[in-house]
Formats: sequence, structure tokens, C-alpha cells
Amino acid sequence: MPKPLSLYDNYTRTLRPFEPLHPGGEVGLYTCGPTVYDYQHIGNFRTFLFEDVLKRVLEWNGCRVRHVMNITDVGHLTSDADTGEDKMEKGARRTGKSAWEIAQMYTESFLADMRLLNIEDPTILCRATDHIAEQIAFIADIEKNGYAYRTSDGIYFDTSKQAGYGHLARLDVAGLEAGKRVDQGEKRSPTDFALWKFSPAGETRQMEWDSPWGRGFPGWHIECSAMAQKYLGDYFDIHCGGEDHIPVHHTNEIAQTEARVGTRLANFWLHGYFLLLSDAKMAKSAGEFLRVASLQQRGYDPLAYRYLCLTAHYRGQLNFTWDALDAAATALDRMRNGVHALRGAAPAAQPDPALIERFTSEINDDLNMPRALAIAWEALRGDLPDAVRGATLLAFDRVFGLGLAAWEPPVEVVPEAVTKLADARAAARAAKNWAEADRLRGELHAAGWEMEDRAGGYALKRR
Ligand code: AMP
Ligand code: ZN
Repeated sequence: MPKPLSLYDNYTRTLRPFEPLHPGGEVGLYTCGPTVYDYQHIGNFRTFLFEDVLKRVLEWNGCRVRHVMNITDVGHLTSDADTGEDKMEKGARRTGKSAWEIAQMYTESFLADMRLLNIEDPTILCRATDHIAEQIAFIADIEKNGYAYRTSDGIYFDTSKQAGYGHLARLDVAGLEAGKRVDQGEKRSPTDFALWKFSPAGETRQMEWDSPWGRGFPGWHIECSAMAQKYLGDYFDIHCGGEDHIPVHHTNEIAQTEARVGTRLANFWLHGYFLLLSDAKMAKSAGEFLRVASLQQRGYDPLAYRYLCLTAHYRGQLNFTWDALDAAATALDRMRNGVHALRGAAPAAQPDPALIERFTSEINDDLNMPRALAIAWEALRGDLPDAVRGATLLAFDRVFGLGLAAWEPPVEVVPEAVTKLADARAAARAAKNWAEADRLRGELHAAGWEMEDRAGGYALKRR
């Protein structure tokens, strides 16, 4: 029997057996989506790839997954401490377009990159700006339950009212309180955060709405609490995001939901660890970042990046280097060619049960994809019948998502001069003129081509 699925839950800081809250029903999965004020970088996509693999592993284990992802198109300020400008309004100024236009443009680009990386579409993709009413209703309940207060620039969540505040991040709330900073403005505690921000007096924002408290826009965290509850209910199976979300964004999502409905929102909290570039966090705000298009410009298939991410466990940081991507591209190429050669026979066979069992145990051990890849290589190089190896690899790829079933070797365009040489050599061989045939083969080699004689003809391959 393979190991049952266990996942590392950051809320309890333990590896726990995963049991769906509604056996036989859908598993609810909420993953924090992109802030669409700029392109997403390959660091962001490391997190989305981890979440895609998680979803595929759940499906491998027989679960049906209801996956909800939000698009943050308002309210995410340049500082996580609720100060600074809205990233969308700033992005609009940078590009000379409206905030609505850039939201549309960067959402489309995000979705196109997701497809290049074979990341499955979420069941529901929801925009923050399409759910303002739900967010206002959420804040109104938080206020009614006594967890909100007003300052001159907005409505804030009073974290001191909640005994368990900060549990996810193991925040030292008392220590933070003791070290209060002068720049916390009118906030009562340093950990308090905005639920609703007022539009600055005398200023018209591109994105603003009326609310019971005044014209303005929602804080960043409330969108996820509100949309998760709308589409997945008060308490669902798994919530994910990148590791940076632990101390602020997810901590505050939990606080809000706790204040409204009394749950910690999700049973499991999983986080993808960062992709680093030259050992530093890759961040849009730092200016320099790599996109999927940057990889393509250097001639890489985006799926080589997917392969690279599979070689590292999601719970450790991964340092990006071009050498590492190169190695991943080579490995992917070998795997594609290897599976391609076996694929013809595969539909007639069943995957090998022993390999499937070992593979399942690895992916069920908190998504140990590096070990799962090692088993795939063992299967590819092993001595089971071709059809069985092919069927086994294709089954594994339901989780890897490398598109092995559909891949075709690139079609070689043979230059006309090379075809002429090959034809001449074939004619020389037919005339048993071996010296001339050898000479022409030498010319083909010099041009970088290998000619293989086949029954009734020949094939040309690059040397
Ligand atoms: P954002 O567009 O900033 O809202 O981020 C989208 C997702 O990418 C979030 O889940 C972040 O936690 C995650 N993320 C941001 N930077 C990185 C990084 N360098 N490596 C991995 N994930 C990241
Ligand atoms: Zn979120």
C-alpha cells in the first residue's frame, strides 16, 4: 500500500495526514493570486507551480478539487503596513494607462504565462473589484462584532481584541507592542491593519467606491477572506500562497474570518518558499525580474522552468541560475525523447503497479517531487517492457504536468543542398560506386548531417 497523503500545515507546524473535510465531496482550495499592476515574474510562478502540483496530487489521490484563485486588482499598497500608494494606481502612472486597463492587460498576460507553464486554470478566478459588496458586508460584520475602529484615513482591524492573533506566524505580539514605532500613525497597535481606506480628501482615485464609512477602497486582505468564504464556505480544506504571506496577509485573513465567523478559514495552510535570484528575493518592487518571456527570449521552453521547479522541494528556497535552467532543459529533452520512443506501445499497457506505488508514496509525502522525478528516471531507464514503461511515465506526468503525452520532436528542415548531397550519395551507392559514396558522406558530415540508410531510402539527422 502506498503512503496516504500528508501535508505540512504551517498553522499547526506539523506534517498532518490530509483528510478532506467533506469525504466524497469537493476539496476546497484557495490560492492567493497575482497583483496585476505589472507582469508576474518567475518567482511568482514558482508558487503557482507548487499549487498546481498540489492540486494534481490531490486529484491523483481521487479528490475532486474546487480551486479558487483571486486577482488582486485593488487595495494592495506599496507597503504591507498599510501605508504608501495603491500598487495599481502607481502602475497606471508608470505605464500611462488607466488602472482598469493595466489590470486587464496584466491579467491576460498572467493567464497566457500560466498556460505556457501547463498550469491548470482554477475552477473559479475572481477579481477583487467584482466583489466590493461582499467585502463591505464582511467589514460591516467585523465592525458589528466589535473588532473595528475608525481613524482619519480608514477603518482598521483591532488586533488586540483577538487573543489568538498572529498564531499562524507565531508573531510575538507583546514584543511588537513593546517596540511600538512612532510611524504607526493613528493605529492602536502595530499589528492593526486596514479594512477600508478612505480616498484622500480632494483626490479622485481611479478605483473607489461608496461604503457605509465613506468613499474609498478595500484593504488588501479583506478580498481573500470575502471571496474565499463566498466560493468555499466558512471553513474549507486548504489555503496557499507564498511564504511572504505568512506574517501579514494570511495572518490578517485568518483574523478577519475568525472575527466574522469564528473559524481559521482553512484546515491546512501551505506555503511555497521563494525563488531567489543571485541569493536575493526576486521581487517586482526591486525593479529587475525575469519573466516567462525572458526565458523564451534566451531560447528556453517555459516547461524547462516547470521541470526545474520540480527538482526542488516547495518548502525550501530555490536559487535560480541559468546553469540550473540549462540542466533542467537537457533533462526535460531527454525525458521527452525517451517517452516519445515508448509512447506508441503505451496505450496497450498498464503502468507498473510497483512503480506507481513508490511514486504515490513520494508525492504523498508532502509533495516530494524530487524523489518522484528520480523514480520516473528509474522507470525510463529500467528493463520493463517498453509499453509498460511508456504507460507508467504517462501516468506520472498527470502530476508532473510536463505535457509528455503530446510532445513531438521538432521537425528538422533539411537544407536543399544537403538533400542534393544525400540523393547523389544514394545514387552512387545504387551504382555500387563506393568511393564516391564515401566521399559524399564525408561532405555531408562536414555540413553537419548524418545519413542513415533505410530500406528503400534514407533518413537525415543532425550530427
Ligand atoms: P503578488 O503578485 O505579489 O501578489 O504575488 C503572487 C504570488 O507570488 C504570491 O503567492 C506571493 O507570495 C508569491 N511570490 C512573490 N515573490 C515570490 C518569489 N520570489 N518566489 C516565490 N513566490 C513568490
Ligand atoms: Zn490572499
